[in-house]
Amino acid sequence: MIALSLAEIAAIVGGQQHDIPDPGRMAEGPVVRDSRDVRPGSLFAAIAGERVDGHDFAERAVADGAVAVLATRPVGVPAIVVPDVVAALGALARAVVDKLGTDVVALTGSAGKTSTKDLIAQLLQRLGPTVWTPGSLNNEIGLPLTALTAGPETRTLVLEMGARGIGHIRYLTELTPPRIGVVLNVGTAHVGEFGGREQIAVAKGELVEALPPADAGGVAVLNADDPLVRAMSDRTKARTVLFGEAADAHVRAEDVRLTATGQPSFTLHTPTGCAAVTMRLYGEHHVSNALAAAAVAHELGMPVTEIATALSEAGQLSRWRMEVTERADGVTIVNDAYNANPESMRAALRALAAMGAAATAKGARTWAVLGRMAELGEESLAEHDAVGRLAVRLNVGKLVAVGGREAAWLQMGAYNEGSWGEESVHVSDAQAAVDLLRSELRPGDVVLVKASRSVGLERVAEQLLAVD
Ligand code: ATP
Ligand code: MG
Repeated sequence: MIALSLAEIAAIVGGQQHDIPDPGRMAEGPVVRDSRDVRPGSLFAAIAGERVDGHDFAERAVADGAVAVLATRPVGVPAIVVPDVVAALGALARAVVDKLGTDVVALTGSAGKTSTKDLIAQLLQRLGPTVWTPGSLNNEIGLPLTALTAGPETRTLVLEMGARGIGHIRYLTELTPPRIGVVLNVGTAHVGEFGGREQIAVAKGELVEALPPADAGGVAVLNADDPLVRAMSDRTKARTVLFGEAADAHVRAEDVRLTATGQPSFTLHTPTGCAAVTMRLYGEHHVSNALAAAAVAHELGMPVTEIATALSEAGQLSRWRMEVTERADGVTIVNDAYNANPESMRAALRALAAMGAAATAKGARTWAVLGRMAELGEESLAEHDAVGRLAVRLNVGKLVAVGGREAAWLQMGAYNEGSWGEESVHVSDAQAAVDLLRSELRPGDVVLVKASRSVGLERVAEQLLAVD
Protein backbone atom coordinates (compact mmCIF):
# COMPACT_ATOMS: atom_id res chain seq x y z
CA MET A 1 0.00 0.00 0.00
CA ILE A 2 1.23 3.50 -0.65
CA ALA A 3 1.19 5.81 2.34
CA LEU A 4 -1.73 8.26 2.43
CA SER A 5 -2.72 10.66 5.19
CA LEU A 6 -6.13 10.31 6.80
CA ALA A 7 -7.03 13.72 5.36
CA GLU A 8 -6.12 12.51 1.86
CA ILE A 9 -8.14 9.33 2.32
CA ALA A 10 -11.15 11.30 3.58
CA ALA A 11 -10.94 13.55 0.53
CA ILE A 12 -10.67 10.61 -1.90
CA VAL A 13 -13.66 8.77 -0.45
CA GLY A 14 -15.67 11.92 0.29
CA GLY A 15 -15.91 11.00 4.00
CA GLN A 16 -16.31 12.89 7.27
CA GLN A 17 -13.53 12.68 9.83
CA HIS A 18 -14.65 11.69 13.33
CA ASP A 19 -12.49 11.46 16.47
CA ILE A 20 -9.34 11.98 14.39
CA PRO A 21 -6.83 14.01 16.43
CA ASP A 22 -4.22 14.19 13.67
CA PRO A 23 -5.52 14.25 10.05
CA GLY A 24 -1.90 14.22 8.88
CA ARG A 25 -1.36 10.76 10.34
CA MET A 26 -0.34 8.33 7.65
CA ALA A 27 -2.02 5.03 6.84
CA GLU A 28 0.72 2.87 5.45
CA GLY A 29 -0.21 -0.65 6.50
CA PRO A 30 -2.57 -2.92 4.60
CA VAL A 31 -6.25 -2.01 4.29
CA VAL A 32 -8.11 -4.90 5.93
CA ARG A 33 -11.67 -5.98 6.61
CA ASP A 34 -10.85 -8.60 9.27
CA SER A 35 -9.62 -7.10 12.54
CA ARG A 36 -7.34 -10.11 13.00
CA ASP A 37 -5.37 -8.99 9.94
CA VAL A 38 -4.68 -5.50 11.33
CA ARG A 39 -1.02 -4.45 11.33
CA PRO A 40 0.43 -1.20 12.66
CA GLY A 41 -0.56 1.54 10.22
CA SER A 42 -3.56 -0.34 8.81
CA LEU A 43 -6.83 1.20 7.74
CA PHE A 44 -9.69 -1.00 8.96
CA ALA A 45 -12.75 -1.23 6.70
CA ALA A 46 -15.84 -1.92 8.80
CA ILE A 47 -18.13 -3.97 6.59
CA ALA A 48 -21.38 -5.51 7.71
CA GLY A 49 -21.37 -9.16 6.67
CA GLU A 50 -23.99 -11.86 7.04
CA ARG A 51 -22.83 -13.00 10.46
CA VAL A 52 -20.75 -10.19 11.91
CA ASP A 53 -20.68 -6.42 11.56
CA GLY A 54 -17.17 -4.99 11.23
CA HIS A 55 -18.26 -1.95 13.22
CA ASP A 56 -18.28 -4.15 16.33
CA PHE A 57 -14.55 -4.72 15.89
CA ALA A 58 -13.54 -1.09 15.30
CA GLU A 59 -12.21 -0.53 18.79
CA ARG A 60 -10.19 -3.70 18.73
CA ALA A 61 -8.74 -2.87 15.31
CA VAL A 62 -7.50 0.50 16.57
CA ALA A 63 -6.12 -1.07 19.75
CA ASP A 64 -4.17 -3.48 17.53
CA GLY A 65 -2.60 -0.66 15.51
CA ALA A 66 -5.11 0.52 12.89
CA VAL A 67 -4.77 4.28 12.38
CA ALA A 68 -8.46 4.69 11.58
CA VAL A 69 -11.64 2.92 10.62
CA LEU A 70 -13.61 3.36 7.43
CA ALA A 71 -17.18 3.17 8.72
CA THR A 72 -20.78 4.18 8.10
CA ARG A 73 -21.17 5.80 11.54
CA PRO A 74 -18.96 7.25 14.27
CA VAL A 75 -17.54 4.40 16.37
CA GLY A 76 -15.76 6.18 19.23
CA VAL A 77 -12.29 5.70 17.71
CA PRO A 78 -10.69 7.56 14.77
CA ALA A 79 -13.01 7.05 11.80
CA ILE A 80 -13.68 8.28 8.29
CA VAL A 81 -17.44 8.07 7.93
CA VAL A 82 -18.98 7.36 4.53
CA PRO A 83 -22.42 6.25 3.37
CA ASP A 84 -21.06 3.04 1.83
CA VAL A 85 -17.78 1.44 2.93
CA VAL A 86 -17.55 -0.91 -0.07
CA ALA A 87 -17.95 2.01 -2.49
CA ALA A 88 -15.32 3.94 -0.51
CA LEU A 89 -12.88 1.04 -0.80
CA GLY A 90 -13.47 1.08 -4.53
CA ALA A 91 -12.79 4.80 -4.77
CA LEU A 92 -9.62 4.39 -2.76
CA ALA A 93 -8.40 1.55 -4.96
CA ARG A 94 -9.07 3.58 -8.08
CA ALA A 95 -7.15 6.57 -6.72
CA VAL A 96 -4.19 4.42 -5.71
CA VAL A 97 -4.01 2.55 -9.02
CA ASP A 98 -4.24 5.86 -10.91
CA LYS A 99 -1.53 7.40 -8.77
CA LEU A 100 0.80 4.43 -9.17
CA GLY A 101 0.07 3.97 -12.86
CA THR A 102 0.32 0.20 -12.39
CA ASP A 103 -0.30 -1.97 -15.45
CA VAL A 104 -3.45 -4.03 -14.80
CA VAL A 105 -4.17 -7.48 -16.23
CA ALA A 106 -7.74 -8.58 -15.49
CA LEU A 107 -9.32 -11.93 -16.20
CA THR A 108 -12.73 -13.46 -16.11
CA GLY A 109 -14.54 -16.54 -17.33
CA SER A 110 -16.85 -19.24 -16.04
CA ALA A 111 -14.18 -21.72 -14.99
CA GLY A 112 -10.45 -21.49 -14.41
CA LYS A 113 -10.09 -17.87 -13.32
CA THR A 114 -8.15 -18.66 -10.17
CA SER A 115 -6.01 -21.35 -11.80
CA THR A 116 -5.14 -19.02 -14.69
CA LYS A 117 -4.59 -16.02 -12.45
CA ASP A 118 -2.11 -18.11 -10.44
CA LEU A 119 -0.34 -19.18 -13.64
CA ILE A 120 -0.16 -15.60 -14.91
CA ALA A 121 1.23 -14.46 -11.57
CA GLN A 122 3.90 -17.16 -11.60
CA LEU A 123 4.95 -16.15 -15.12
CA LEU A 124 4.92 -12.39 -14.59
CA GLN A 125 6.88 -12.58 -11.36
CA ARG A 126 9.83 -13.42 -13.55
CA LEU A 127 9.48 -10.04 -15.23
CA GLY A 128 9.19 -7.97 -12.07
CA PRO A 129 7.26 -7.37 -8.83
CA THR A 130 3.70 -8.59 -9.30
CA VAL A 131 0.62 -8.35 -7.10
CA TRP A 132 -2.26 -10.78 -7.64
CA THR A 133 -5.62 -11.71 -6.19
CA PRO A 134 -5.17 -14.09 -3.26
CA GLY A 135 -7.40 -17.15 -3.69
CA SER A 136 -10.69 -16.16 -5.32
CA LEU A 137 -11.21 -12.71 -3.79
CA ASN A 138 -12.72 -11.49 -7.03
CA ASN A 139 -15.65 -9.32 -5.99
CA GLU A 140 -16.31 -5.67 -5.17
CA ILE A 141 -14.58 -6.08 -1.79
CA GLY A 142 -11.72 -8.49 -2.54
CA LEU A 143 -10.67 -6.71 -5.73
CA PRO A 144 -10.07 -3.25 -4.19
CA LEU A 145 -8.42 -4.80 -1.13
CA THR A 146 -6.00 -6.61 -3.45
CA ALA A 147 -5.34 -3.53 -5.57
CA LEU A 148 -4.57 -1.56 -2.41
CA THR A 149 -1.66 -3.88 -1.62
CA ALA A 150 0.18 -2.58 -4.71
CA GLY A 151 3.09 -0.21 -4.13
CA PRO A 152 5.42 1.96 -6.23
CA GLU A 153 7.58 -1.10 -6.93
CA THR A 154 4.63 -3.09 -8.35
CA ARG A 155 5.00 -3.64 -12.06
CA THR A 156 1.80 -5.54 -12.77
CA LEU A 157 -1.48 -6.13 -10.95
CA VAL A 158 -3.17 -9.39 -11.89
CA LEU A 159 -6.82 -9.34 -10.90
CA GLU A 160 -9.49 -12.02 -11.05
CA MET A 161 -12.93 -10.57 -11.74
CA GLY A 162 -16.07 -12.51 -10.87
CA ALA A 163 -19.59 -11.76 -12.07
CA ARG A 164 -22.87 -12.90 -10.65
CA GLY A 165 -24.88 -10.58 -12.84
CA ILE A 166 -24.87 -7.95 -15.55
CA GLY A 167 -22.88 -4.83 -14.63
CA HIS A 168 -20.65 -6.51 -12.03
CA ILE A 169 -17.55 -6.74 -14.22
CA ARG A 170 -18.11 -3.23 -15.54
CA TYR A 171 -18.07 -1.96 -11.96
CA LEU A 172 -14.83 -3.81 -11.19
CA THR A 173 -13.15 -2.46 -14.34
CA GLU A 174 -14.00 1.06 -13.19
CA LEU A 175 -12.11 0.49 -9.93
CA THR A 176 -8.97 -0.92 -11.56
CA PRO A 177 -9.01 -0.11 -15.29
CA PRO A 178 -7.28 -3.01 -17.06
CA ARG A 179 -5.01 -2.64 -20.08
CA ILE A 180 -4.99 -6.36 -20.79
CA GLY A 181 -8.27 -8.27 -20.39
CA VAL A 182 -8.51 -12.07 -20.58
CA VAL A 183 -11.78 -13.97 -21.10
CA LEU A 184 -11.36 -17.70 -20.57
CA ASN A 185 -14.70 -19.26 -21.39
CA VAL A 186 -18.44 -18.90 -21.15
CA GLY A 187 -19.56 -22.10 -19.56
CA THR A 188 -22.56 -23.21 -17.68
CA ALA A 189 -21.39 -21.93 -14.27
CA HIS A 190 -24.21 -19.91 -12.69
CA VAL A 191 -26.32 -20.40 -15.81
CA GLY A 192 -29.45 -20.76 -13.68
CA GLU A 193 -28.81 -17.44 -12.03
CA PHE A 194 -28.01 -15.55 -15.22
CA GLY A 195 -30.72 -17.09 -17.36
CA GLY A 196 -28.65 -18.52 -20.20
CA ARG A 197 -25.18 -18.64 -21.72
CA GLU A 198 -25.78 -15.59 -23.92
CA GLN A 199 -26.48 -13.59 -20.79
CA ILE A 200 -23.27 -14.86 -19.23
CA ALA A 201 -21.42 -13.76 -22.38
CA VAL A 202 -22.96 -10.31 -22.06
CA ALA A 203 -21.73 -10.07 -18.47
CA LYS A 204 -18.20 -11.42 -19.10
CA GLY A 205 -17.78 -9.31 -22.21
CA GLU A 206 -18.01 -6.15 -20.14
CA LEU A 207 -14.31 -6.76 -19.48
CA VAL A 208 -13.28 -6.28 -23.10
CA GLU A 209 -15.62 -3.31 -23.52
CA ALA A 210 -13.68 -1.56 -20.76
CA LEU A 211 -10.25 -1.97 -22.40
CA PRO A 212 -8.45 0.98 -23.96
CA PRO A 213 -8.22 1.07 -27.76
CA ALA A 214 -5.41 -0.77 -29.52
CA ASP A 215 -3.40 2.42 -30.12
CA ALA A 216 -3.43 3.07 -26.37
CA GLY A 217 -2.10 -0.42 -25.66
CA GLY A 218 -5.38 -2.24 -25.02
CA VAL A 219 -5.22 -6.01 -25.54
CA ALA A 220 -8.14 -8.46 -25.38
CA VAL A 221 -6.91 -12.02 -24.84
CA LEU A 222 -9.72 -14.27 -26.02
CA ASN A 223 -10.31 -18.01 -26.17
CA ALA A 224 -10.40 -18.96 -29.84
CA ASP A 225 -12.02 -22.32 -29.03
CA ASP A 226 -15.08 -20.82 -27.34
CA PRO A 227 -17.42 -19.22 -29.91
CA LEU A 228 -19.07 -16.90 -27.40
CA VAL A 229 -15.67 -15.64 -26.25
CA ARG A 230 -14.22 -15.34 -29.74
CA ALA A 231 -17.21 -13.19 -30.73
CA MET A 232 -16.26 -10.68 -28.06
CA SER A 233 -13.60 -9.26 -30.38
CA ASP A 234 -16.50 -7.28 -31.92
CA ARG A 235 -17.19 -5.65 -28.60
CA THR A 236 -13.76 -4.12 -28.01
CA LYS A 237 -11.53 -1.41 -29.43
CA ALA A 238 -8.51 -3.22 -28.05
CA ARG A 239 -6.29 -5.44 -30.18
CA THR A 240 -7.42 -9.07 -30.05
CA VAL A 241 -5.02 -11.90 -29.26
CA LEU A 242 -6.55 -15.35 -29.66
CA PHE A 243 -5.41 -18.38 -27.70
CA GLY A 244 -6.49 -22.01 -28.03
CA GLU A 245 -6.11 -25.04 -30.22
CA ALA A 246 -7.84 -23.41 -33.22
CA ALA A 247 -5.55 -23.11 -36.24
CA ASP A 248 -5.85 -19.30 -36.34
CA ALA A 249 -5.03 -18.75 -32.65
CA HIS A 250 -2.02 -16.49 -32.13
CA VAL A 251 -0.95 -18.47 -29.07
CA ARG A 252 -1.63 -22.12 -29.74
CA ALA A 253 -1.11 -25.60 -28.34
CA GLU A 254 -0.25 -28.47 -30.66
CA ASP A 255 0.30 -32.16 -29.93
CA VAL A 256 -1.67 -31.96 -26.70
CA ARG A 257 -1.59 -35.14 -24.65
CA LEU A 258 -1.84 -36.28 -21.07
CA THR A 259 1.18 -38.00 -19.55
CA ALA A 260 0.64 -41.25 -17.67
CA THR A 261 0.35 -39.20 -14.49
CA GLY A 262 -2.49 -37.05 -15.90
CA GLN A 263 -0.35 -33.99 -16.52
CA PRO A 264 -0.74 -32.21 -19.86
CA SER A 265 2.12 -31.76 -22.28
CA PHE A 266 2.03 -29.81 -25.54
CA THR A 267 4.00 -27.67 -27.94
CA LEU A 268 3.43 -23.98 -27.33
CA HIS A 269 3.31 -21.84 -30.46
CA THR A 270 3.55 -18.06 -30.26
CA PRO A 271 4.12 -15.45 -32.97
CA THR A 272 7.79 -15.41 -31.96
CA GLY A 273 8.51 -19.12 -31.77
CA CYS A 274 7.60 -22.39 -30.15
CA ALA A 275 8.71 -24.53 -27.21
CA ALA A 276 7.72 -27.74 -25.41
CA VAL A 277 5.72 -27.62 -22.17
CA THR A 278 5.01 -30.41 -19.67
CA MET A 279 2.92 -29.13 -16.80
CA ARG A 280 3.07 -30.04 -13.14
CA LEU A 281 -0.64 -29.23 -12.80
CA TYR A 282 -3.16 -32.01 -13.45
CA GLY A 283 -5.89 -32.13 -16.06
CA GLU A 284 -6.12 -31.12 -19.70
CA HIS A 285 -8.27 -28.10 -18.86
CA HIS A 286 -5.03 -26.47 -17.74
CA VAL A 287 -3.84 -26.37 -21.37
CA SER A 288 -6.35 -23.64 -22.09
CA ASN A 289 -5.42 -21.83 -18.87
CA ALA A 290 -1.72 -22.13 -19.73
CA LEU A 291 -2.29 -20.70 -23.21
CA ALA A 292 -4.13 -17.71 -21.75
CA ALA A 293 -1.25 -17.12 -19.34
CA ALA A 294 1.28 -17.55 -22.14
CA ALA A 295 -0.56 -14.97 -24.26
CA VAL A 296 -0.38 -12.43 -21.43
CA ALA A 297 3.30 -13.10 -20.75
CA HIS A 298 4.05 -12.88 -24.47
CA GLU A 299 2.32 -9.49 -24.63
CA LEU A 300 4.48 -8.31 -21.76
CA GLY A 301 7.65 -9.31 -23.58
CA MET A 302 8.57 -12.67 -22.10
CA PRO A 303 10.52 -14.91 -24.52
CA VAL A 304 8.75 -18.13 -25.49
CA THR A 305 11.42 -20.40 -23.99
CA GLU A 306 11.05 -18.67 -20.65
CA ILE A 307 7.25 -18.91 -20.86
CA ALA A 308 7.55 -22.65 -21.51
CA THR A 309 9.92 -23.12 -18.59
CA ALA A 310 7.72 -21.13 -16.24
CA LEU A 311 4.58 -23.03 -17.29
CA SER A 312 6.39 -26.32 -16.80
CA GLU A 313 7.52 -25.30 -13.33
CA ALA A 314 4.27 -23.66 -12.20
CA GLY A 315 2.69 -25.31 -9.19
CA GLN A 316 -0.54 -25.11 -7.28
CA LEU A 317 -1.12 -21.78 -5.55
CA SER A 318 -4.76 -22.02 -4.53
CA ARG A 319 -6.12 -25.02 -2.63
CA TRP A 320 -8.52 -27.87 -3.47
CA ARG A 321 -8.01 -27.67 -7.23
CA MET A 322 -6.79 -31.02 -8.51
CA GLU A 323 -4.58 -31.24 -5.42
CA VAL A 324 -2.86 -34.61 -5.71
CA THR A 325 -1.58 -36.27 -2.53
CA GLU A 326 -0.29 -39.82 -2.15
CA ARG A 327 -0.88 -41.50 1.19
CA ALA A 328 1.82 -43.61 2.81
CA ASP A 329 -0.11 -46.75 1.81
CA GLY A 330 -0.02 -45.75 -1.87
CA VAL A 331 -3.62 -44.53 -2.16
CA THR A 332 -3.71 -41.27 -4.16
CA ILE A 333 -6.31 -38.62 -3.33
CA VAL A 334 -7.13 -36.01 -5.98
CA ASN A 335 -8.88 -33.20 -4.14
CA ASP A 336 -10.77 -31.08 -6.66
CA ALA A 337 -13.52 -30.22 -4.21
CA TYR A 338 -13.16 -26.46 -4.62
CA ASN A 339 -15.93 -26.26 -7.18
CA ALA A 340 -17.53 -28.03 -10.11
CA ASN A 341 -19.37 -27.35 -13.32
CA PRO A 342 -19.94 -29.65 -16.30
CA GLU A 343 -16.74 -28.56 -18.08
CA SER A 344 -14.51 -29.08 -15.06
CA MET A 345 -16.23 -32.37 -14.15
CA ARG A 346 -15.39 -33.72 -17.59
CA ALA A 347 -11.81 -32.46 -17.40
CA ALA A 348 -11.30 -33.94 -13.95
CA LEU A 349 -12.76 -37.31 -14.97
CA ARG A 350 -10.46 -37.44 -18.00
CA ALA A 351 -7.46 -36.65 -15.78
CA LEU A 352 -8.56 -39.40 -13.38
CA ALA A 353 -8.84 -41.85 -16.25
CA ALA A 354 -5.31 -40.97 -17.44
CA MET A 355 -3.90 -41.31 -13.93
CA GLY A 356 -5.79 -44.55 -13.48
CA ALA A 357 -4.41 -46.21 -16.62
CA ALA A 358 -1.15 -46.98 -14.81
CA ALA A 359 -2.94 -47.89 -11.58
CA THR A 360 -5.41 -50.29 -13.16
CA ALA A 361 -2.61 -52.11 -14.96
CA LYS A 362 -1.38 -53.03 -11.47
CA GLY A 363 -4.81 -54.11 -10.27
CA ALA A 364 -5.67 -50.85 -8.48
CA ARG A 365 -8.91 -48.95 -9.11
CA THR A 366 -9.99 -45.41 -9.82
CA TRP A 367 -12.85 -43.88 -7.83
CA ALA A 368 -14.89 -40.83 -8.73
CA VAL A 369 -16.51 -39.41 -5.61
CA LEU A 370 -18.79 -36.76 -7.05
CA GLY A 371 -21.40 -34.39 -5.71
CA ARG A 372 -23.80 -32.04 -7.35
CA MET A 373 -23.01 -29.20 -9.75
CA ALA A 374 -25.00 -26.21 -8.52
CA GLU A 375 -26.81 -23.46 -10.39
CA LEU A 376 -27.47 -25.30 -13.63
CA GLY A 377 -31.14 -24.35 -13.84
CA GLU A 378 -33.13 -26.45 -16.26
CA GLU A 379 -29.96 -28.07 -17.66
CA SER A 380 -29.29 -29.71 -14.32
CA LEU A 381 -30.83 -33.14 -14.92
CA ALA A 382 -29.23 -33.58 -18.35
CA GLU A 383 -25.80 -32.39 -17.16
CA HIS A 384 -25.72 -34.71 -14.12
CA ASP A 385 -26.89 -37.60 -16.24
CA ALA A 386 -24.13 -36.88 -18.80
CA VAL A 387 -21.39 -36.80 -16.15
CA GLY A 388 -22.54 -40.15 -14.75
CA ARG A 389 -22.44 -41.63 -18.24
CA LEU A 390 -19.01 -40.17 -18.99
CA ALA A 391 -17.55 -41.78 -15.87
CA VAL A 392 -18.62 -45.16 -17.24
CA ARG A 393 -17.41 -44.43 -20.76
CA LEU A 394 -13.99 -43.37 -19.47
CA ASN A 395 -13.93 -46.65 -17.58
CA VAL A 396 -13.42 -45.09 -14.18
CA GLY A 397 -13.42 -47.93 -11.65
CA LYS A 398 -16.29 -46.87 -9.46
CA LEU A 399 -18.62 -43.91 -9.04
CA VAL A 400 -19.77 -42.78 -5.61
CA ALA A 401 -22.41 -40.06 -5.97
CA VAL A 402 -22.79 -38.03 -2.79
CA GLY A 403 -25.83 -35.99 -1.74
CA GLY A 404 -29.45 -35.48 -2.69
CA ARG A 405 -31.44 -35.37 -5.90
CA GLU A 406 -28.65 -34.32 -8.28
CA ALA A 407 -26.37 -37.06 -6.96
CA ALA A 408 -29.15 -39.52 -7.70
CA TRP A 409 -29.24 -38.22 -11.28
CA LEU A 410 -25.48 -38.73 -11.56
CA GLN A 411 -25.79 -42.29 -10.38
CA MET A 412 -28.75 -43.00 -12.66
CA GLY A 413 -26.72 -41.73 -15.63
CA ALA A 414 -23.99 -44.23 -14.82
CA TYR A 415 -26.55 -47.00 -14.20
CA ASN A 416 -28.29 -46.40 -17.52
CA GLU A 417 -25.02 -46.31 -19.43
CA GLY A 418 -24.63 -49.99 -18.52
CA SER A 419 -21.35 -51.86 -17.98
CA TRP A 420 -19.99 -51.30 -14.44
CA GLY A 421 -22.26 -48.28 -14.10
CA GLU A 422 -24.85 -50.60 -12.66
CA GLU A 423 -22.61 -51.01 -9.63
CA SER A 424 -22.20 -47.28 -9.01
CA VAL A 425 -23.47 -46.16 -5.63
CA HIS A 426 -25.40 -43.23 -4.25
CA VAL A 427 -24.79 -42.19 -0.65
CA SER A 428 -26.59 -39.46 1.25
CA ASP A 429 -23.69 -37.48 2.69
CA ALA A 430 -19.94 -36.97 2.98
CA GLN A 431 -19.64 -39.14 6.09
CA ALA A 432 -21.27 -42.10 4.36
CA ALA A 433 -18.81 -41.68 1.48
CA VAL A 434 -15.86 -41.62 3.87
CA ASP A 435 -17.09 -44.75 5.67
CA LEU A 436 -17.54 -46.59 2.39
CA LEU A 437 -14.12 -45.62 1.04
CA ARG A 438 -12.30 -46.38 4.27
CA SER A 439 -13.41 -49.97 4.10
CA GLU A 440 -12.89 -50.36 0.35
CA LEU A 441 -9.68 -48.54 -0.61
CA ARG A 442 -6.65 -50.60 -1.55
CA PRO A 443 -3.02 -49.54 -2.09
CA GLY A 444 -2.57 -47.99 -5.52
CA ASP A 445 -6.17 -46.76 -5.81
CA VAL A 446 -6.73 -43.23 -7.11
CA VAL A 447 -9.69 -41.24 -5.72
CA LEU A 448 -11.07 -38.07 -7.31
CA VAL A 449 -13.24 -35.92 -5.03
CA LYS A 450 -15.25 -33.19 -6.73
CA ALA A 451 -18.49 -31.22 -6.36
CA SER A 452 -19.75 -27.67 -6.25
CA ARG A 453 -18.46 -25.51 -3.42
CA SER A 454 -21.68 -25.66 -1.43
CA VAL A 455 -21.37 -29.45 -1.03
CA GLY A 456 -18.14 -29.09 0.99
CA LEU A 457 -16.74 -32.36 -0.32
CA GLU A 458 -13.19 -31.39 0.68
CA ARG A 459 -14.14 -32.99 4.02
CA VAL A 460 -14.09 -36.35 2.27
CA ALA A 461 -10.62 -35.71 0.87
CA GLU A 462 -9.31 -34.43 4.18
CA GLN A 463 -10.69 -37.34 6.18
CA LEU A 464 -9.30 -39.83 3.71
CA LEU A 465 -5.91 -38.18 4.00
CA ALA A 466 -6.12 -38.16 7.78
CA VAL A 467 -6.13 -41.98 7.93
CA ASP A 468 -2.92 -43.59 6.96
P1 ATP B 1 -14.67 -19.31 -9.00
O1 ATP B 1 -15.76 -18.74 -9.87
O2 ATP B 1 -15.22 -20.21 -7.94
O3 ATP B 1 -13.73 -18.29 -8.46
P2 ATP B 1 -12.67 -20.02 -10.95
O4 ATP B 1 -13.19 -19.53 -12.26
O5 ATP B 1 -11.68 -19.16 -10.25
O6 ATP B 1 -13.85 -20.37 -9.96
P3 ATP B 1 -10.87 -22.25 -10.59
O7 ATP B 1 -10.96 -22.06 -9.13
O8 ATP B 1 -9.57 -22.01 -11.25
O9 ATP B 1 -12.01 -21.42 -11.32
O10 ATP B 1 -11.36 -23.69 -10.95
C1 ATP B 1 -12.67 -24.12 -10.58
C2 ATP B 1 -12.89 -25.50 -11.09
O11 ATP B 1 -12.86 -25.53 -12.51
C3 ATP B 1 -11.83 -26.46 -10.63
O12 ATP B 1 -12.48 -27.64 -10.30
C4 ATP B 1 -10.90 -26.64 -11.82
O13 ATP B 1 -10.38 -27.93 -11.87
C5 ATP B 1 -11.82 -26.40 -13.00
N1 ATP B 1 -11.18 -25.68 -14.13
C6 ATP B 1 -10.06 -24.95 -14.11
N2 ATP B 1 -9.79 -24.46 -15.33
C7 ATP B 1 -10.78 -24.87 -16.15
C8 ATP B 1 -11.06 -24.68 -17.54
N3 ATP B 1 -10.26 -23.96 -18.34
N4 ATP B 1 -12.19 -25.27 -18.04
C9 ATP B 1 -13.00 -25.99 -17.27
N5 ATP B 1 -12.78 -26.22 -15.95
C10 ATP B 1 -11.68 -25.67 -15.39
MG1 MG C 1 -11.79 -18.20 -8.49
